[in-house]
Amino acid sequence: MKAVIYNGPRDIRVVDVADPQIEQPTDVLVKITSTNICGSDLHMYEGRTDIECGRVLGHENLGEVVEIGRAVYRIKVGDKVCLPFNIGCGFCRNCEKGLTGACLTVAPGQAGAAYGFADMGPFQGGQAQYLRVPFGDFNCLKLPEDAAEKEDDYVMLADIFPTGWHATRLANLMPGDSIAIYGAGPVGLMAAYSAMIQGARQVIVVDRHKDRLKLAEQIGAIAVNDAEHDPVEQIMELTNGRGTDKGCECVGWQCHDHGGQEIPNLTMNNLVKTTRATGQIGVVGVFVPQDPKSPDNLMKRGQIAFDIGNFFFKGLRMGSGQANVKAYNRELRDLIHADRAKPSFLVSHRLPLEQAPDAYKNFDNRTDGWTKVILKPNE
Ligand code: NAD
Ligand code: ZN
Repeated sequence: MKAVIYNGPRDIRVVDVADPQIEQPTDVLVKITSTNICGSDLHMYEGRTDIECGRVLGHENLGEVVEIGRAVYRIKVGDKVCLPFNIGCGFCRNCEKGLTGACLTVAPGQAGAAYGFADMGPFQGGQAQYLRVPFGDFNCLKLPEDAAEKEDDYVMLADIFPTGWHATRLANLMPGDSIAIYGAGPVGLMAAYSAMIQGARQVIVVDRHKDRLKLAEQIGAIAVNDAEHDPVEQIMELTNGRGTDKGCECVGWQCHDHGGQEIPNLTMNNLVKTTRATGQIGVVGVFVPQDPKSPDNLMKRGQIAFDIGNFFFKGLRMGSGQANVKAYNRELRDLIHADRAKPSFLVSHRLPLEQAPDAYKNFDNRTDGWTKVILKPNE
């Protein structure tokens, strides 16, 4: 089959690889019809991780079940399914509590498991024609009869819609709250969208890319362009000097817009400044530790200088981590089905798999108009 593989920093290729097979009786094979490129793929793409060459990328996958293992009970051949990016077993201490982003069985010793991802198990990704799904009964979200018609919406359930929602839950957003969201990439836009759905009174989104800020405005958020003026000052002005009730970090490691230098971004400390005293912050941006044991390079250890002093004085609280997609995805699916949510508003491109190298390049460069790419491996 055809698949997108990692071949070194800023070098991905579309090549022929062996078709995946049922390996365990609990496995399911899915023919992938939509698979997104994510900001998280850029950590691998830009060479910030130690992922090995030849690994198939892609953790935001949707398709049709074509084969099931003999112990698969619930999922049937022909089902249209969306695949949460976390791979969980369903029976460990964490999965039982809904914390599937930290499954203890599937990739023991690592912080959870995912398809096509560094340091999250050996699993192949779904930017390919077919994907093996472990513990298929647990890891497939069945889609309703409008699956094909709303495929661009449902595929966002694999990651960014639940992740944006997770950011607002980590921040304990309540109806009537104000919230500042740093980053208007797909994750930040989904956090803003989730905040709107949950009844936030004021949603402020910070970025510097006008195309992305325009999308934030389209869903009713206030855009703050940090390239034009200090974002902290702008947010304080918008909130009468008080700051917002809640805040979200949807950026993580970035090496763009800083002259190509990979520098710790400022979002964490900006959040400490712009969140009102006793407010709460949700962090979903990934500060990927490229070399966790690096003796002299804090950045490589994924560490940033964080203003714990003011964080403490303001009595702020913070939640962080991978989204536990399964904790939210049924409800978000049902919102889409009921026409109460349409996360596909941010889709900019639908492309054949062959165009993945060009798509990665443009998404990585944040080329104007490249907000979210869906690859179509079987068209
Ligand atoms: P993205 O990288 O395209 O979006 C990030 C946006 O942040 C960009 O638009 C960029 O211009 C903006 N930005 C850069 N520096 C900024 C700053 N100082 N202040 C405000 N905005 C700034 O990709 P994305 O898909 O939206 O992903 C964002 C982050 O979320 C990544 O770190 C990704 O790994 C992470 N992520 C986490 C989870 C999870 O489960 N926790 C899931 C998916 C993605
Ligand atoms: Zn993703």
